[in-house]
Amino acid sequence: MKIGCHISVGKGLEQAVLRAIELGAESLQVFTKNPRGLRPKKIDYRDATKGVDLLQKHDLTLVCHTPYITNLSTPKPDLQEVTIRSILEDLHIAEAYGAVGAVVHCGKHVGEGEEYGTKRMVETLDLILEQYDGPVKLLLENTAGQGSELGLTIRDLMEIRAATRFPEKIGFCFDTCHAFAAGQWRGETFDDLLEEMERTGYLEHLVAIHFNDSKAPLPAGKTATKKSAKGRLAVKRWPNSW
Ligand SMILES: [Zn+2]
Repeated sequence: MKIGCHISVGKGLEQAVLRAIELGAESLQVFTKNPRGLRPKKIDYRDATKGVDLLQKHDLTLVCHTPYITNLSTPKPDLQEVTIRSILEDLHIAEAYGAVGAVVHCGKHVGEGEEYGTKRMVETLDLILEQYDGPVKLLLENTAGQGSELGLTIRDLMEIRAATRFPEKIGFCFDTCHAFAAGQWRGETFDDLLEEMERTGYLEHLVAIHFNDSKAPLPAGKTATKKSAKGRLAVKRWPNSW
């Protein structure tokens, strides 16, 4: 397992990787573009090439994170189109950056119900992945179940992956804060959780872990990460197991 952290890519990929090296990180995560916006981003290929060279030279693994405001389950056709376009762009940016995966949050059913939301999420994932054949995996991140968020449990996430036409293009990112706040594993030990990950086949597709402390108590269904806590990122060596 490679330990690292989230780093700003505001000054380009090369600078982000240099910062990771300076910090002694073995992996890093960067946003593909402004996390609170969907404005298209022009890739600076010169910078990306320098960054990728550094990643390889120092044996660092990179994961990208897509903006928060897409919704894979949106019932609105125009918003679905925007989500598809944005995530496709993220996959291409992640590829130019030499990332192993691009983290995306699960959909929100926005009042349409879980069944509808899940179906819609699978449909949107298919529409994205039928247009992308590159090496970057789309990493579904578990949610805290805030509002109408889907994808709280290991089982739900595995079902969504299996329902798509392109399961081989989908991996997972496990967020400890979200999992804790979702209360899915109340009363269970870490071993139980690991056993479930193994039994369902989730572990095999787990690429990254967000080690975040939780400000919200158990099971609040809130995603707030403790302000004092520093997030950590762990990346599994893909495709070997840890
Ligand atoms: Zn996330």
